[in-house]
Amino acid sequence: MAEILRGKAVAQSIKEQMLRDVEELGKEGKVPKLGIVRLGNNAGDISYEKSLIKNCEEIGIEVEVFEREVEMTTEELVALMDELNNNDKISGILVFRPLPKHIDEDIIMSSINPNKDVDCMHPLNLERIFEGDMSGFAPGTPKAAMEILKYYNVELEGKDVVVVNRSMVVGKPLVMMLLEENATVTVCHSRTQNLQEKTKNADVVCVALGVPKFFTEEFFNEDSVIIDIGVSRDAEGKLSGDTDYDNLEDKVKMITPVPGGVGAVTTTLLLSHVVQAAKLI
Ligand code: NAP
Repeated sequence: MAEILRGKAVAQSIKEQMLRDVEELGKEGKVPKLGIVRLGNNAGDISYEKSLIKNCEEIGIEVEVFEREVEMTTEELVALMDELNNNDKISGILVFRPLPKHIDEDIIMSSINPNKDVDCMHPLNLERIFEGDMSGFAPGTPKAAMEILKYYNVELEGKDVVVVNRSMVVGKPLVMMLLEENATVTVCHSRTQNLQEKTKNADVVCVALGVPKFFTEEFFNEDSVIIDIGVSRDAEGKLSGDTDYDNLEDKVKMITPVPGGVGAVTTTLLLSHVVQAAKLI
């Protein structure tokens, strides 16, 4: 039977560290505060916002929502970003994306103070990852995958790791993080030949396609450690990962569930960035 790498336990351990950090900050009279910038009333954004507020309250992070009209211009949004950058009470800023089409997202991404960029939106923060500097604000999803591997003591040094994804939000930063841990990394994508052979021979496989149950048992061996980052809906409309999880549980060494795996760690990481950012003010 595979060991199930649950995200909840990882998130809990990050939370415990955060509570200690918030207490320490309190002694210096500092309270971490997240500023959320939301344009319009997208249902998904509002639902995520509610869960963020609840999670922040549990940890002692204050939240202020800056709700603006969808019609807001790029210049007006830059002005709001400036205001938040210069507000000493706000330690971290989260801008809900994608932004409306008329807004120049590149300009907004570069307008955030990198020290308040808890969602890794500023190109400088991503650049740091590619330079091997992991001390800044890393993108949540690949960092969550790394935190899971660390928490469950998966050895990476010298190991063969296959990443099936080459996007800027998942695959590429994840490759850099794995290299920092001295793994030997192979990156696969839609043009890769003999994918099955590559994943089957790897020690650790990280998949992020967004195709439900794509990775069946033929892609793995009994010692495979699988990090499933993909999230999509299967034919019955049920939330699914990229792996054929139900049929893999007794055929591999370790596997993350979906939901309850990588996704369960990302929000907690974002909040830990807010606490980290409060230390920089
Ligand atoms: P994306 O940009 O569409 O990337 C998908 C990647 O999969 C691409 O590199 C693509 O190759 C590759 N691919 C697609 N079909 C393939 C195939 N048949 N064989 C091999 N490779 C294939 O998507 P993304 O934004 O990176 O997100 C990927 C998945 O992660 C989605 O399910 C998303 O929902 C999930 N995600 C989860 C979280 C979380 O917190 N758990 C956060 C973010 C994203 P090409 O580059 O050649 O097209």
